[in-house]
Amino acid sequence: MALPFSLSEYFNGMTGERSIAPARRIYVNTKRKICETCRGINAEDLIHPPYYKHVSSFLALDQHCFFCSRFERVFGDRDGQLVLGISWRLNDGSAADGYLKLMVEPRLKAFGSIKPGNTAGHGSEQPWQETNIFVLAGIADEAPISDDAPFGSGIPLLGNLTTTGSESSIEKARGWLRHCSANHSCSAKLSGFDDYKPKRLIDLEHLNDDPGCVRLVDGATAKSPYATLSYCWGTAAQKILTTTAVLTSYMEYIDPKATPKTFQQVFEVTQGLGIRYIWIDALCILQDSASEWVEESAKMGAIYSNSCVTISIDWSSDPNSGCYRDTKEIFQHEAQSQLMKIMHTSKDGIPRLLYCGENYKADLPEIETATLATRGWTFQERLLSPRILHYTDKQIYWECRRAVFAEDNIPRSPEMRLLAPSLPTQLQALAEHKDTSRLFSLWYSSLISQNYAKRRLSFPTDKLSAISALARLFSSHINAQYIAGLWDHDLPQALIWRVIPGALPFHHRLDNGCPSWSWTSLHANVSWDTMAWAFNGEPRQIFIRIIKAATQLKDADPFGRVTGGYVRLEGRIKGCRPDTRTRSECSDNPHGLTEASYGMLHSDDGKALAIPYLDVLAGLVPVTHCLLHSEGGSQSQTLGLGIILGQVSEELQSYKRLGVCIICSPVGTPLEDVFRDCPETIIDLV
Ligand SMILES: [Zn+2]
Ligand SMILES: [Zn+2]
Repeated sequence: MALPFSLSEYFNGMTGERSIAPARRIYVNTKRKICETCRGINAEDLIHPPYYKHVSSFLALDQHCFFCSRFERVFGDRDGQLVLGISWRLNDGSAADGYLKLMVEPRLKAFGSIKPGNTAGHGSEQPWQETNIFVLAGIADEAPISDDAPFGSGIPLLGNLTTTGSESSIEKARGWLRHCSANHSCSAKLSGFDDYKPKRLIDLEHLNDDPGCVRLVDGATAKSPYATLSYCWGTAAQKILTTTAVLTSYMEYIDPKATPKTFQQVFEVTQGLGIRYIWIDALCILQDSASEWVEESAKMGAIYSNSCVTISIDWSSDPNSGCYRDTKEIFQHEAQSQLMKIMHTSKDGIPRLLYCGENYKADLPEIETATLATRGWTFQERLLSPRILHYTDKQIYWECRRAVFAEDNIPRSPEMRLLAPSLPTQLQALAEHKDTSRLFSLWYSSLISQNYAKRRLSFPTDKLSAISALARLFSSHINAQYIAGLWDHDLPQALIWRVIPGALPFHHRLDNGCPSWSWTSLHANVSWDTMAWAFNGEPRQIFIRIIKAATQLKDADPFGRVTGGYVRLEGRIKGCRPDTRTRSECSDNPHGLTEASYGMLHSDDGKALAIPYLDVLAGLVPVTHCLLHSEGGSQSQTLGLGIILGQVSEELQSYKRLGVCIICSPVGTPLEDVFRDCPETIIDLV
């Protein structure tokens, strides 16, 4: 296994042996003391039963050891053999991350007084207690150790970081790019995308001339790799845009100083990475040509996935603030929290690193909660780019399909990011294993629900366009038709999404041509957990039968904008209307009322029928019907789910979806009896 030069040198230096790695030897070099027993902690023992046997008695814990003193906190003075495991691990078992769990064996008399820990996982019946000590384990070559981070000296080594615009920052970024290019295959082509090169690129060849200049060139003629930019457009008018009128002159000359500050600094970064071309939408797409917009927006997946690296300006809400942040104070503050590195050679002779620390967070809050992460278009830009250099308000980060690196040298776990450049790899793996249900759950639960659905877009008509490339990628792995943000696979389930009230300051219907049965017709946080939410996940029967589903496309792109669509289905519908009682009069219902609910729906005979969960407060059309969707199963034959409808055309039997509802039939009455007088009807949802 190839190791980065500095690490293997170091490792050999430590062992004093050139090629034969000693088995299971562990090195710890930290300012804090670690006892002999804790030095023996290693990745394999932590993740496989019977786990790492620590000390035979709590009395044997070394009071001066960093770990021992923390282990003692968990169980106090109760005695017994201490066993260490990790709370979760990777599927392939090659590396492990998680919080350390402790177990005392054998079961003690005094155990009853200890709050039982999580007994799930590892097939163990012994109660586990979790510590706040986080352990990350990785194959050593996944963590390039730079010269300024001498191995084992303890991290973070943040002291000399001052600004993300420093020479050392760009040097580090260059090193990451080199490491990725040499050791990963991150730039492998994605299925579903061709070799398309952007129509235009910005050529930086003459950036450093006097006076400096950049210019637009034909993308097809560019011989070397190009970078892409991911940023927020902001609300202010763009300083500079390419239009038909200026195109010829921009192909000759653009004064870099006339571009927004962010662009100017991005030119610097691109050059610093050794890349000659960059693609920025405002300059590379004609901003006054609707047809070119349609053409290029359909190619967005190819543009980003074929780029060498995407420079992502995460912290800024507009292109006039630049890329860089002054970070001196942040790091002085944070340098307190220490992680420790433990290196050991596993049984197979592979050097591995364990990183241990308290309350360590392996996620990337500066990226996940940044301004950029609230915007619609940037979603697929992050997921499809093979490599991303992030400029956050704290430090720079590297993300590629294989790894995550941070400027502070603290290892992040790439597997903790579900939504990251590793997505295409995950998709590929699921497709190869024919894991259809996880593929669809990736789309509905991970991508749309809680994430894309609530991101903001300047233009509501972009709702489908801004994820069209992701849909294209998915469609290359699944055998299903894409219909306005849903897939026709298991459509009855896909139709029963619900709006999560209160997740956004205000959710509303979008005027974008999308049909009411699709979540894309709303700006709202949505979820497909409706069945589990209403029935506690019990088995169910579905009463609707889909006959046909189709959309009318606005452009040629099958994943792009639509002007409408219908789902023709057979089912039972019952006339109903909203109750006019006040909220307090209705407050005795067991499911509680939300802002979007206003009392029970009553059937035409005046009986209470269902608790409505309307998509938005003010409906498109009045509530007229309830469609029986599914039943709660054997345990709750009187509970069902329905779709709230508003009839728009009696002649055509077409209805708008207005929400979902929980149907409650009177005690002792099976749900189907409530709809007995409603014959099976064919209707169109529009
Ligand atoms: Zn110890
Ligand atoms: Zn990589």
